[in-house]
Amino acid sequence: MRYIIIGGGAAGSFCALTAALEGHTVTLIEKNALLMKKLGITGKGRCNLTNLCDNDEFIANIFSGGNFIRSSLSKLPPTKLVDFFQDKLGFPLTVERGNRVFPQNGGAVDVVLAIKNRMIRENVRIITDTALSLIIEGNTVTGARCEHDDYIGERVVIACGGVSYPVTGSTGDGYSLARQAGHNTATPTAALVPLLTREDTSDVAELLLKNITATLFKNDKAVFKEQGEIGFETYGLSGALALTASCYIKGEANWKLRIDCKPALSEETLDARLLREIQDGAANAGDLLRKILPKGLDRLVAKRASIKRDTPTAIMTKAKRLAIVGAVKRLDFGITGKRPIEEAIVTNGGVCLDEIDPRTMKSKLVNGLYVIGETLDIAGLTGGFNLHCAFATGYAAATAD
Ligand SMILES: Cc1cc2nc3c(=O)[nH]c(=O)nc-3n(C[C@H](O)[C@H](O)[C@H](O)COP(=O)(O)OP(=O)(O)OC[C@H]3O[C@@H](n4cnc5c(N)ncnc54)[C@H](O)[C@@H]3O)c2cc1C
Repeated sequence: MRYIIIGGGAAGSFCALTAALEGHTVTLIEKNALLMKKLGITGKGRCNLTNLCDNDEFIANIFSGGNFIRSSLSKLPPTKLVDFFQDKLGFPLTVERGNRVFPQNGGAVDVVLAIKNRMIRENVRIITDTALSLIIEGNTVTGARCEHDDYIGERVVIACGGVSYPVTGSTGDGYSLARQAGHNTATPTAALVPLLTREDTSDVAELLLKNITATLFKNDKAVFKEQGEIGFETYGLSGALALTASCYIKGEANWKLRIDCKPALSEETLDARLLREIQDGAANAGDLLRKILPKGLDRLVAKRASIKRDTPTAIMTKAKRLAIVGAVKRLDFGITGKRPIEEAIVTNGGVCLDEIDPRTMKSKLVNGLYVIGETLDIAGLTGGFNLHCAFATGYAAATAD
C-alpha cells in the first residue's frame, strides 16, 4: 500500500515510521525544512512522551475525545509505546512523578532524531512541500496536490496538527483539507493556555509557587481542584495548574481561581504557626510573612490582608492575624479570559470524531482518507497525554487493515 502522509509532526512521523515497518511504501510531506518542530520543544525541551497509567486513567485525562481514543489506545497502550522506543529505536525512556515518561538521556530534540533516523533507515521518502489540496476522484481521495508536485497513493493521511503554536507549522491546513473531503470541524479553541486575571499580578511576575492547591470556581461552585504549581505573569497566571484550569473554562460565567498557599495546614494550625513565629522574634508583619512564605508572595499576601508590612507584631490584633491566614489559604483571582490560541499547548476542536472510524482513523465519508493527531477533535491534559494521542492515532492509521 502507498501511504501519502501530510504533515511531519509527532502523529505524521510516527505513522510514517510504523507504516514503513509494516512494509508499506511511505511518502511523508512536511512544509517545514525540519520535521517534528513542535515535538522538539515539548516538555520544556525534555519531551513528556506519554503517561504510564492504565487505559481508564488515561481516558479520564482526555477532556475532548476520551471515548474515541479508547480503541487506538488499546492498540498502542503507553507500555507498548515505551517498548517501541526501546526495541525499535534503541531509545530508553524513564518514568517520573505522576507516571510521566521522558527520555532516559537527552531531550525532545533527541526524540526527533531517533524517529527521523529510523524513518530514513526504513526508506520513508521525506519531501519538503506544502499540501494545498486533496486529489479526489469520485468518492475516493487518491493523493495530495502540493506547491511543487502531486503525490498519489491508496491511503492519504492528514496529520497537519491544530492551530496552536503556529510558528511550528500547525496553521489549520488540516481542517481545510478535511473540509474539502466533506468533513465538519468543531471550532478550534485554546486549551492548556495561561489565564488572564482581573487583579494586577505584574509586581509578582515570574514568581512560581510549588505544592499549592488551586481550586477553580464557576459562579462560586468548585469545578476543579488539584495540587501542583502555579506561575505569575505580568498578565495573570501560568504554570501547570493554570493550564489545566483553562480546559474547564468555557462560556460566560463568574470564574475564580483560589490558591491555597499552605494546603497542608488548616487555618487553626497556620494561625498557631504565626503565633509561634511572633513569639520566636518576628518583629513586624513583613518579617512574619517572610518566615512562612516564599520571596515575593509575602508582599502579595500583605496587600490582600490589608496589612502594612512595618506593623509591629506586638500590636497585631487577632483579626489582623486571621486576615493573613485568610489571604494565605484563599488567595483569589478573578479569571477574565485566556491568552490567545497561538499560545495554547493544544487546540480543542478540529475534525468531528463521529465522521472518523476510531479503530483505523479512516474517514467514514470518503475512501482512502485518514485523519490523525491534533487535527482531530481530541485534546488532553498535561502529562504526556497529547503526544500519546498523536502516536496512538498515527499507529492506528498505519496498521489499519
Ligand atoms: C510548547 C509545547 C509543549 C508541549 N509539550 C508536550 C508534552 O511534553 N507532552 C505532550 O504530550 N504534549 C505536549 N505538547 C502537545 C503536543 O506537542 C501536540 O499535541 C502534538 O505535537 C500534536 O502532534 P501532531 O502531529 O498532531 O501536530 P504537530 O506536531 O503540530 O505537527 C503537524 C505538522 O504538520 C505540518 N503541516 C501543517 N500543514 C501542512 C501542509 N499544508 N503541508 C505539509 N505539512 C503541513 C506542520 O508543519 C507540522 O510539522 C506540547 C505542545 C506545545 C506547543
